[in-house]
Amino acid sequence: MLKILVIGSGGREHSLVWKLAQSREVSKIYAAPGNGGISEIAECFDVNPTDLNALEDLVRKEQIDLTVVGPEAPLVEGIVDEFEKKGLRIFGPQKEAARLEGSKVFCKELLWKYDIPTAVGEVFSDIEDAKKFLKDCKFPRVVKADGLAAGKGVIICRTEKEALETVENIMGRKVFGKAGERIIIEEFLEGEEASFLVFTDGEKILPLISSQDHKAIYDGDKGPNTGGMGAYSPAPVVDAEVQERTMREIIHPVIKAMREEGNKYRGILYAGLMISEDGPKVLEFNVRLGDPETQPVLPLLKTDLIIPINACIDGELGDVKLDWSEGASVCVVLTSGGYPGKYEKGKEISGLDKVSRDDGIYVFHAGTLKKNTTLITNGGRVLGVTAVGKSIKEAIDKAYGAAGKIHFDEVYYRKDIGFRALNRGSQN
Ligand code: AMP
Repeated sequence: MLKILVIGSGGREHSLVWKLAQSREVSKIYAAPGNGGISEIAECFDVNPTDLNALEDLVRKEQIDLTVVGPEAPLVEGIVDEFEKKGLRIFGPQKEAARLEGSKVFCKELLWKYDIPTAVGEVFSDIEDAKKFLKDCKFPRVVKADGLAAGKGVIICRTEKEALETVENIMGRKVFGKAGERIIIEEFLEGEEASFLVFTDGEKILPLISSQDHKAIYDGDKGPNTGGMGAYSPAPVVDAEVQERTMREIIHPVIKAMREEGNKYRGILYAGLMISEDGPKVLEFNVRLGDPETQPVLPLLKTDLIIPINACIDGELGDVKLDWSEGASVCVVLTSGGYPGKYEKGKEISGLDKVSRDDGIYVFHAGTLKKNTTLITNGGRVLGVTAVGKSIKEAIDKAYGAAGKIHFDEVYYRKDIGFRALNRGSQN
């Protein structure tokens, strides 16, 4: 029996902990730092996800057998290399491989080198060169900061003026610090986005069910981007042909390219795709599970999650098959009013007792905190109300039915999660 540590504190980590807790091979789960919901199934320790020394101490003290990393920051910092060096078992890509997310320039240069479909663009490390380049550009254009910028480093610029301001902000005013020392200016891709994730041991690849995120704050994808306002799975835009092309043109080539470059990639690889008229193209890679996509995806997974995780670590993924439930799943994210701008914390959450898992409804916690017996808000994204149904329509209705029973002061959520699937007349 295994003792497992899950690093992170969001809805993604709550759904991971929830799923791992069902494994017959798992005896106890720890979380660092966890949240109000996670604390009901795991022992939480107030350790920062990038404090690698403190995490190592925790693993040794509690004799933890396996660490599963939720967010990207510890992976990009090199937690996997550090743990492996010390003989501690951990799931995720090593530091060099995590650059696929940690450096957009690294990622793009790899994609361009190996002819993997993605936007055409240029890399700049000099602000004047970047500004000069913009003079002859067609718009819209997309400007991207190289490094991690808390999901804010991608700016779609409709005009030259906007692009010049953006370049000034990133490279001149250094609003993202070192992350903006280099930028990419690339073509704007049209189409529908999808999230396509795989497990890989560096050789074999096992796709997860597809999903789609909703990043903008308001209905109809209006307003500023957030960490994610909801997601559903499967995404009908990823039909059999798109899936086959994504595997053949993107996933297999990138895993092979990483091997050839001496950066064997092990773990979860998340491809953010634009499904364009010419087929799927890479918007970005993430080196971990998505948030909120994990919340609708894991309730559809019938297979014990520890099986593909162990197989990735041991290089035995060829023997694993994933079983998925029929139907669809939807996650609606309940946020604190004001998010992604300023918002207040500490609001009491009520109504959770009125929603039941027996009905296929799972409320995954993100920004929550348990204060004695009261649950209070503790972040921008507060809860991921997730429902499984026979169809996307049924899942949407169930998720919104449940969301309506949960209250906290100034709660806000989008009312149109899953609209693209509905517009496609999806029967799934
Ligand atoms: P990224 O972090 O690179 O995925 O970018 C965040 C979001 O910006 C994506 O989910 C897209 O909505 C948008 N985006 C990024 N690159 C492009 C592009 N080349 N064309 C159109 N939209 C893009």
